[in-house]
Formats: sequence, structure tokens, C-alpha cells
Amino acid sequence: MTWVHAWRRSAVRRTGTKEALMQALRLMAWKSEPELVEVEDPLPADGQVVVRIGGAGACHSDLHLMHDFDAGLLPWGPPFTLGHENAGWVHALGPGVVGLEIGQPVAVYGPWGCGRCQRCRLGIETYCDNPLGAPVPGGGGGLGLDGGMAEFMLVPDARHLVPLPAGLDPVIAAPLTDAGLTPYHAVRRSWAKLPPGSTAVVIGVGGLGHLAVQILRATTAAQIIAVDNRPEALQLASECGADHTMAPGDTTAAAIRDATEGRGADVLLDFVGADDTLALGVAAARMLGDLTLVGIAGGSLPVSFFSVPYELSIQSTYWGSRPELIEVLDLGARGLLRPTITTVPLDQAVEGYRRMEAGTVEGRTVVIPGAPSAVH
Ligand SMILES: [Zn+2]
Ligand SMILES: [Zn+2]
Repeated sequence: MTWVHAWRRSAVRRTGTKEALMQALRLMAWKSEPELVEVEDPLPADGQVVVRIGGAGACHSDLHLMHDFDAGLLPWGPPFTLGHENAGWVHALGPGVVGLEIGQPVAVYGPWGCGRCQRCRLGIETYCDNPLGAPVPGGGGGLGLDGGMAEFMLVPDARHLVPLPAGLDPVIAAPLTDAGLTPYHAVRRSWAKLPPGSTAVVIGVGGLGHLAVQILRATTAAQIIAVDNRPEALQLASECGADHTMAPGDTTAAAIRDATEGRGADVLLDFVGADDTLALGVAAARMLGDLTLVGIAGGSLPVSFFSVPYELSIQSTYWGSRPELIEVLDLGARGLLRPTITTVPLDQAVEGYRRMEAGTVEGRTVVIPGAPSAVH
């Protein structure tokens, strides 16, 4: 936001008219870059909350939204404001909302289900049984509805807000709601297979993978092996607590077996999801292990009686639950989960996505709507 714009906004606000406008980074059409446009400030209706955004994480899945979809492929579409990893402060409460205070720091739980089915009542809104009863089927803020890449975000139900533990900055909390929650869910469901003496393999040490290493280190006693083809990613994995790091290649599966006395790895988390990373996962897996597919590269894996270790469980996972987000934020507040972050102001968010696509950003890009622009 420019200073002139900030001044004009405050002038509009002071008049008390309804015409207060904010800048928002909106996807206006499929197969296009998002645009910074002016929209009206949101107003909360019954049960709703407006959050002043402190940080909005830029996710690789946003690049898929910009490049890979055509009309009709998803049950929702543009225009909408991007940003599905959000945290900030309660700004305005709709009628009937209790239990939240203006100014209270909160994280926004991103997947929005129907709120009434059994899964939603358990806080597992990612796997809502009644998606047609959700605000948008299979979406949420930044995914069909307006997200957090704006000064304010409308959250359609107070249940989606999780108070931040003391000391956790919204800029850190924002990426934890997805880049932290997604690997946390994937690791947590395999906890029973990660006792002392076990081995976990993280394939792909990007925004999610480097947090997966930290989550494994903080919540299990497993030996951790990280695999990535970028030396700097392996360096980051070591700093996050990996015991061994390896580049992917013909000998990687054998090296993982060497590091596990020939048994193979108990749990393998694939944050890439390409044909060759999935093949590596199977080749390095232990019988009775878990191979969990998190990355959305779209690869596939042939499964037959002879092609995979006995009782290897293969599953995809998507995002995580609201109770798990509470646990992730606790890890963040205690310094056990520390995302590597690059911040950009809202008017440089498009450029931030371009750098992310080019692979030249360190860690997660977090957009800060209230930050003044750099001087050009
Ligand atoms: Zn995401
Ligand atoms: Zn539901």
C-alpha cells in the first residue's frame, strides 16, 4: 500500500461512509496472474468475524490455481482473493459471536466444511461428508472465497478461528496453518510407527518438507533421512534436525536400506508426488510401513502383489484438522516449529509468486498486507 493510498483510506474511514475500500490480491480468471484491485471492506453478518490480516502465506498450490485449471474443473472459481494460510487479529464481530475479543490474535483454520456433519464436528473439515453444505464445496478462504491477501478477511464462522498462544507472531502462525499443519497431520497419523529405532524419510525439503523434519524431531524419536536434489535444501534439512541427507538417484533406496540395517524406512513422506519419488518411496519402504503422498506433482504408482512390500500402507493426505492446528500452534509458540520465512508487502505479492515459481525464495513467502511498500 502506498502512503497516499493509506492516507486516502483513512480519510474515507473518518467520514463514516460505507465506501471504505481495501486493496486485495485477487485471481480474476483462470490461467492468469492475480491482480491487485480495490474491493470493499468486508462487514460481518450473524456469526461471522472479520480478521485484520497480519500475515498470509503464499502456497505452491496457488501457482496451480493460476496455471492449471479451466472453468468447470473445480466446483468454484474466480474472482476471489488469494491466501489460504492466514493469521491476524480479530477486527469486527458479527451479531451473536461470543468468546472472541477485538484485537485478539488468531489463526484462521483454512478448510471450511458444512460444520454439521460428524467429521466437521470433530474438526476434520478437510474431509467434510456434506461438501455441498459448505460455503464452497472443498474450498475456503483463498480457495473460491476471499482469502487473506488483503487488509481484512471475512471468516464465515467463528469456529474457524484458533486463538494464538502467547508469543506467537501472526507472521509465523500464518504459514503454520497449512505449511505446518499439512506435514503435522501426515506425521501424526503415523506416530505409532515411529518409536525409537524407527526411521522416517522426508522426500522433498521445501516449504512443507523442512517443517516435516522439525515436526518429526519435535514429536518422535525416529531417525530422520531427508532426500532432495538441491544442496541448499539438504543443508536446511540438516539444520532442521535430519540425521542423514541424500540426493535422489539410482543408489538412494540402497543408501536408505544401509542406514536402516537393511530393513527399509518405517514411514516415508513424499512432499513431491512425482513418479520417481513414489518409486523411491516403495523401493526404500519397510514391510508394515507407511508411504504417505502429500505432494501434488500428479505422479502415480503401480501397486500389485509383487511390487510393494507386504502391508505397506499407501495413502494420500490433505491438510489437517482443527485440533491438530491447535497442537501445531503450540509447537510454534514454544519454538519447536520455526518456518523459514521471506516476507513481502501486498503490492509486491505478484512478484513474490514469480520468485517462488522460479525457486529463488528461501522458505515460505508470507505476504504482509499492512506493511509499507519498499521505495522503488
Ligand atoms: Zn496450501
Ligand atoms: Zn461437514
